[in-house]
Amino acid sequence: MKKILILPGDGIGKEVTNECMKVIDFFKKSIEIEITEELFGGASIDAHGQPLTKDVLDKAMESDAVLLGAVGGPKWEELEHNLKPEKGLLTLRKELEAFANLRPGKVFPALINASSLKKDIVEGTDIFVVRELTGGIYFGEPRYVKNVGGKRIGANNLIYNEDEIARVANIAFEIARKRKNKVTSLDKANVLEVMQLWRDVVTEVHKNNFQDVELEHLYIDNAAMQVIKRPSTFDVILAGNLFGDIISDEIAELTGSLGMLPSASIGSKHGIYEPVHGSAPDIAGQNIANPIAAILSLAMLFKYSLNLDSVHDLIEKAVSETLNAGFRTKDIGYDNTLTCSEMGDEILSNIVKLS
Ligand code: NAD
Repeated sequence: MKKILILPGDGIGKEVTNECMKVIDFFKKSIEIEITEELFGGASIDAHGQPLTKDVLDKAMESDAVLLGAVGGPKWEELEHNLKPEKGLLTLRKELEAFANLRPGKVFPALINASSLKKDIVEGTDIFVVRELTGGIYFGEPRYVKNVGGKRIGANNLIYNEDEIARVANIAFEIARKRKNKVTSLDKANVLEVMQLWRDVVTEVHKNNFQDVELEHLYIDNAAMQVIKRPSTFDVILAGNLFGDIISDEIAELTGSLGMLPSASIGSKHGIYEPVHGSAPDIAGQNIANPIAAILSLAMLFKYSLNLDSVHDLIEKAVSETLNAGFRTKDIGYDNTLTCSEMGDEILSNIVKLS
């Protein structure tokens, strides 16, 4: 029996996870899944005074995977940092030791005109970013802004040990084996010692265990240009926390709407799956959000936490066929757009047809 914890969170998080529940209910007929749903983020603050209670964290630790909606909203913006909804998200990622962030950037043929690049450049783009999530400059010590001799000085520390690099590199190579068998590793080895270590360790992991996978190294500044110039030639991109943060958003822009982008954060045991978008307070409660990012996050959950690649592929195909048939939500279409729940129903009916 596989255990999935659902944390809808706030705003459109509740609406889009509702559409995921329809898909889960369908697969529950053939796969043994146990679902638990709990409050998280602002909803948990309202009920319990904190964004992530110990009880919910314990349930997350006992689960095979966690599916999140989104957290946050104006109601909780004035709270002190430690009590904000987003703090719950950071704590969850840290406690579940989710050290690799997975961000697919796939251009669906039906939405090719939504990309900021020309059709013939972006056609066929299907990039998968694997970003190191719990180390690097966002966590390195010491970190400070202090006054030295009357001048303010600020510092952060970009530090990695070889184990942190090797474990995320392993994940990137494993994923590439299930895709087009190529990894492009990003660094700044020409200027930073820590990035030379990054390049050396990635090369060693490749040599020891993954010689069947093609490996390319690019400096981050060159990579930022190449993903715009020749996006369809990339497969898996491997990067540290800072470079991965930036390049994954750059790639997201190639694919069109925020409502289309899924993500996963995985470690050695747990996986957290969530759409890239936030709680969208401007459209919350109107049933017009695009549920595709959340449904594709659920597809990733089936693949990376439950090892059900066929279910992942089926859901992705159903989304693709729904778009090919011309169905759109408001963020990606103009006339006769569907509501959030109608889009969920269309995708579900394609899943039923294809299975
Ligand atoms: P947002 O992603 O919520 O919204 C940005 C814009 O994109 C809005 O105009 C919104 O309507 C639109 N949008 C987003 N998702 C959409 C969808 N599925 N369908 C259609 N349109 C969609 O970002 P924001 O407005 O900067 O943040 C709102 C709140 O969400 C803030 O409290 C922020 O802290 C929080 N947030 C949470 C997460 C998370 O839970 N992982 C991520 C980002 C922001």
